[in-house]
Amino acid sequence: MCGIIAYRGHKSNAARMVLEGLKKLEYRGYDSWGVAARTEEKKGGVETPDIFIHKKIGKIGELNLSELSLPRSNLAMAHSRWATHGGVTVKNAHPHASLEKDIVIIHNGIVENYLELKKELIKNRYEFVSETDTEVAAHVIHSEYAKCGDLEKAVLNALKKFTGRYAFLVMSKKHDMLIAARRGSPLIVGKGENGDYFVASDIPAFRAHTDEVMYLDDEEMVVIDESGARFMDLKKNKEVTKRLVKITWDTKEAEKGAFSHFMIKEIMDQKETIHRAINQDEKLIKKVAQAIDKAFGTYLVGCGTTGKVCMVGSYLFSRIAHKHINVEFGSEFPNFRHFIRKGSLFVAVSQSGETADTLEAMEVAKEKGAKLMALVNVEGSSMDRLADISIYQKAGPEKAVASTKATTAQMAILTLIAYACAGNIVEGKKLLLETASLINDMLNPRYEDHIRTLAEKIKDVESMYVIGRGMNYPMALEGAIKLQEVSYIHAEGFAGGELKHGPIALITKGTPCIALVANDEMKNEILSNAIEVKARGGFIIGVSPTNEEVFDYWIKVPDVGNASPIVNIIPVQILAYHLALLRKNDPDMPRNLAKSVTVK
Ligand code: GLU
Repeated sequence: MCGIIAYRGHKSNAARMVLEGLKKLEYRGYDSWGVAARTEEKKGGVETPDIFIHKKIGKIGELNLSELSLPRSNLAMAHSRWATHGGVTVKNAHPHASLEKDIVIIHNGIVENYLELKKELIKNRYEFVSETDTEVAAHVIHSEYAKCGDLEKAVLNALKKFTGRYAFLVMSKKHDMLIAARRGSPLIVGKGENGDYFVASDIPAFRAHTDEVMYLDDEEMVVIDESGARFMDLKKNKEVTKRLVKITWDTKEAEKGAFSHFMIKEIMDQKETIHRAINQDEKLIKKVAQAIDKAFGTYLVGCGTTGKVCMVGSYLFSRIAHKHINVEFGSEFPNFRHFIRKGSLFVAVSQSGETADTLEAMEVAKEKGAKLMALVNVEGSSMDRLADISIYQKAGPEKAVASTKATTAQMAILTLIAYACAGNIVEGKKLLLETASLINDMLNPRYEDHIRTLAEKIKDVESMYVIGRGMNYPMALEGAIKLQEVSYIHAEGFAGGELKHGPIALITKGTPCIALVANDEMKNEILSNAIEVKARGGFIIGVSPTNEEVFDYWIKVPDVGNASPIVNIIPVQILAYHLALLRKNDPDMPRNLAKSVTVK
């Protein structure tokens, strides 16, 4: 959520650089943005430092940066806000400054005890111009600064007073210095040339300038000034050295290229990503399979779309390896902490590796002594670093808020592990390789056109339903999420067999119902459920390897056995995308949503 990017170095166009970087973080979802740049201008013959601040509501994407008159500066930071405390207004947008701009900050996350701190500050005559928790934090740092005149010490002392999960960036008019600290929200330091440094919530923000990064861990702070970057462990109160990591993907992979949106680009990337995802070190997959075998209970944990992937995982492990796997949403997992003990295995699944709910669940599991595994797309992310074993999804940067290619990569890997658990990794790999090549054939312009035609037919409906059975039941839930996220049509997913217990009352003449069909033992049953819906006037869209009489509209998918959830979700992704376009929604930046959900 929210985007943070800062620069300190020898170049004098810092403000422009951070705003260009902020544009690369647009995918994270936000409502307003702002920039702060430290300047040193001669006034009456004396170098007088100041901080330029500019804030705006709305999107930065289309803004031509040359329209802004930005000052010369070697130190700047920019922020895109996803409002949590206070409405979407210019006053609430970041950066927030203390009196005289002694302290200027940007912030991601929530300072949970901000009201308590605010009361204290009001007693000390601090005045507030915004409703945010961030402004409270700025004043707390200022009050510490007023006591010691040392920026680093002031930030250290202030951080001790904050509760919650956050990332902060702090600068001051009086110091050519940038300070960043994190607890729970991601911050990555990029090392440029000639002592230049960047700090951002995600690498694309500065990837154009460097491919060398250092990851800030929780309860760590970095101080960047003319002598370089110094890292501090806040818990141990001592300096730490950081490993320099080289980024392997290039800038092109994080760009839209010839596509009009990231969402469709990433859907089409699935021609390659399944193949990449299963290209794993076999020893590692077998090691994970063994860990599942030995574990006193395995828990697959994720949120949203990934939560549905975890559900698919439990069906796969049951079908393929005859193993019971527990599934929980990150936000609900702490309720089951009592069953976790040494010997349990916790598998965190996440695209970003930063999802706050899953990360917190992971911490709970760690506390209880569980072994931790991470299945993430972003190497070096918090989950990756917290886990005992990591497997990477290798989907490349996923920027559209609605997850597509990471979803299918996660499913492919879980399928592979399930086969490894059954002692049959070779068969699993063969199936997935075939699936990858069939997806490559399937994703052609005619296929997309066929789905666009369907989108035109149904674009004005009020409600839609998606049904599935067995391993395609979670994909029915996921299909509904995709439709909700970008088309804003009321959509719900159900297990086919559950319809008659209530939801069928919602079917009226013409209500579209997507039936996800696999050529398995559930086929006749899901078709019967589709017939029940049709009998009540429903318009049946069949996603299936074969055309069936009950279908009013058929979207063909390859017959791939246990990989059916992977292929069945793809046409629904394409349908959601085209519905979004026809309904004039921006599929990459759906309302109210953000990528990488770093607040609880
Ligand atoms: N809690 C802060 C606010 O509402 C930060 C939000 C964010 O992460 O963008 O301004």
